[in-house]
Amino acid sequence: MNKRTIAVLGATGSIGTQALDLVRRYPEQFEASCLVAHSSAEKLFSLVREFRPRVAALAVEPESLPEDVRFCEWIFGEDCAVRALEAAKPMDALCAIVGIAGLDAVWTALDVCERVLLANKEALVTGGRLVMEKAARLGRPMLPVDSEHSAIFQCLQARQGNPVRRLILTASGGALRTWPAEAIRTATVRDVLAHPTWRMGGKITVDCATMLNKGLEVIEAHHLFAMPPEKIDVVVHPQSVIHSMIEFEDGAVLAQMARPDMRGPIGYAMAYPSRLPYGAEPLDFAQLGKLTFEAPDTGRFPSLAMAYAALRTGGSAPVALNGANETAVAAFLREEIPFGRISEVIEETLNLCPVRGIAGIGDVHAADAQSRAIAEKIIRRRSC
Ligand code: NDP
Ligand code: MG
Repeated sequence: MNKRTIAVLGATGSIGTQALDLVRRYPEQFEASCLVAHSSAEKLFSLVREFRPRVAALAVEPESLPEDVRFCEWIFGEDCAVRALEAAKPMDALCAIVGIAGLDAVWTALDVCERVLLANKEALVTGGRLVMEKAARLGRPMLPVDSEHSAIFQCLQARQGNPVRRLILTASGGALRTWPAEAIRTATVRDVLAHPTWRMGGKITVDCATMLNKGLEVIEAHHLFAMPPEKIDVVVHPQSVIHSMIEFEDGAVLAQMARPDMRGPIGYAMAYPSRLPYGAEPLDFAQLGKLTFEAPDTGRFPSLAMAYAALRTGGSAPVALNGANETAVAAFLREEIPFGRISEVIEETLNLCPVRGIAGIGDVHAADAQSRAIAEKIIRRRSC
């Protein structure tokens, strides 16, 4: 079997380390030829020692490079992911940088690689139409890593040309699902990071608690599967066993189920169309007993509706939504604003941001910068 070379962008993160666990288990199938991170130098050094990539990169240059990691080419700077892809030219790019910071790397991966394995949902939320058009033009498969989108992608294998009536994204409901509105307003960083079913990076865990994560995923699904917003529904499913569903015109619904373990969807994208066993535990239905569902509570969690509205508005609105959210979530994680302010900052930013057309990636970055500047001002005005 020929090995696939893979770049792991965001190698030190939650998705990146789980992907590297699969590379470690299947060395005859994968070679991690390029590893990229932001500033976790020590962590990246130990990954470089283990996986021996051709190229390694950090956005923040460390003070010095240990002797035993100098065998590979090193790239530093904010655009290091783009330059690392160009230098390593891997077959696949696992795009798992968090936030719009990963957009340019997704854009370059489409030029350089045979396939893009996409975890970085913010790249599609902000640059979705442009990215999907480029992928189609160049004939590059975009393989979803986000568990909901992987589930839909897996269900779609059974479509056989039939139209899909509806996509149904499941949501865990996040750490505050059962909390009363007043308590949600003042939830601490610690409360919010205690996700009931998934262990993930800090930013996405906060997004799960506001439920904006599901809003970002609705926009992601819209782009990946060319579905209009009115054909994408969300249902809260606290057990995180059904990862999402598709509905056909005869009312038949297909669901993809598995224990909540991201190595499933990551492995499916890496080995597609094969499946990696990776020691996955079987689902014990008798022990599970029941699977439950409830409608999202848009009163306590207003962000999901804001994401639908931004998607319907189009143009730069989803970029502004994302920029405001990234700014507000970072402020919350620094304990500068209470949890309840996150959705207010997004709403106030969207009200102040003019909606512009998006013709190129430059327009995306301009709209993002504007939205961040407005969100920062809103945050500072209130916290003075
Ligand atoms: P983490 O915060 O755990 O990891 C982020 C990774 O990106 C780290 O390796 C970080 O490096 C790196 N990084 C951040 N900014 C830059 C930059 N400017 N240049 C280069 N590298 C950078 O995030 P997750 O792994 O949780 O999430 C990654 C993406 O996958 C997100 O878009 C998220 O929404 C999506 N996703 C994650 C899931 C999960 O289970 N975690 C599930 C579904 C989607 P450093 O360590 O140095 O900061
Ligand atoms: Mg998801």
